[in-house]
Amino acid sequence: MIQRLLHFLDASPVNFLAVRNIAHELEAHGFRRIDAASPLGHVSAGDRFFVTKNDSSIYAFRIGRKPLADQGFHMICAHSDSPTFRIKPNAEMTGEGGIVRLNTEVYGGPILSTWMDRPLTIAGRVITRGADALSPVTHLIHIRRPLMQISNLAIHFNRQVNDGVKLNRQKDMLPILGFVNDELERGNMLINLIVEELNRTATVTRDDIIDFDLYLADTTPACTFGAHNELISSGRLDDLSMCYAGLEALTAAHDSDTTQVLAIFDNEETGSQTKQGAGSPFLSYLLQRIALAQSGTAEAYYQAVERAFMISADNAHAFHPNYAEKYDPTNHPMLGGGPVIKFNAAQKYASDAVTAAVFAELCRKAGVPCQRFVNHSEVAGGSTLGNILASSIPLRGVDMGNAILAMHSCRETGSVADHEYCVKVFTTFYNE
Ligand code: ZN
Repeated sequence: MIQRLLHFLDASPVNFLAVRNIAHELEAHGFRRIDAASPLGHVSAGDRFFVTKNDSSIYAFRIGRKPLADQGFHMICAHSDSPTFRIKPNAEMTGEGGIVRLNTEVYGGPILSTWMDRPLTIAGRVITRGADALSPVTHLIHIRRPLMQISNLAIHFNRQVNDGVKLNRQKDMLPILGFVNDELERGNMLINLIVEELNRTATVTRDDIIDFDLYLADTTPACTFGAHNELISSGRLDDLSMCYAGLEALTAAHDSDTTQVLAIFDNEETGSQTKQGAGSPFLSYLLQRIALAQSGTAEAYYQAVERAFMISADNAHAFHPNYAEKYDPTNHPMLGGGPVIKFNAAQKYASDAVTAAVFAELCRKAGVPCQRFVNHSEVAGGSTLGNILASSIPLRGVDMGNAILAMHSCRETGSVADHEYCVKVFTTFYNE
């Protein structure tokens, strides 16, 4: 099971690729792709289908034996995006001796220093000319070789480097792409690489390319480590590990009375307020269309929402033995200790005693341990999907996630056992 997760992480360097890979796996398990622009048509018990938005969010459904209005739905949500660097337009900066750097912009909140001195590549989507101006063509791209590196300044130029360095996002974080070989390459190095890559599967010329959404990605494969191989080292565990646990559960679950929903949103790392983010009404529209198709009334949707339950799955902070003082004295989840329920008195998390009790009971039923997380009272902490979604769909739900170290590092640390626990409890939830 863990090998499948590692493979998914390696094949999913950015949101677009993650969504494509999730879609492929859903199709392999009999889920049908539907187009949100076409009528939904008849919806029957056992139907399996999915919809994507912006190529970067995806919503999968297995329709229950009973209508949404009678039985509600069981939903797991997670997010497809992770902190990275977006390549700016007109990105090439050719300097002394023909050395080329790429101009980048930070996406989300990465730990900047962890992106330095490691081989990187590019991944994302490239847009070419289509039949008319409003119908451009999207090509996903992931160049699977080391292409660039953001190199540190040698310690000899900054003897205080180990006392902490403030990194400037515009000056310090520009990757080196190589050296111009001949004049024709000047200003064209990136576009040449893109064209070469696209031409492996399509016929594309430079003039066809209109724009792109491209990001930096680590090229070192995800792996397990530790004396017993009990830990995981990978980028994007937050939140692709939760996406994949949800996907494993949905494809393993069987038909039940309740409709099963997996919602993978984009743009959690930048606040979720996009058409493909958790702040969008898109998922609510889909659920309304399903409820209406089943029951013929708008009322059905409101009943469904009242009967539904949501697990908002986003990674939690594991206890770090080097920094014990940062953690709550009595609630600091351990790696390998099982899924973590997150609480916050200010309601940054959706969990309350009732919904936490539901999740804890699901864990008990699945034979999985369960932990609780609260911030140290002097630490602000982060936010996640649950409450943003609740503002468009007022769902009962719990915020949870597997505990990881070094959240938002280029290489986070997770636990093998926790992944297996999470798939178990998610599958139990869908089968309820
Ligand atoms: Zn997250």
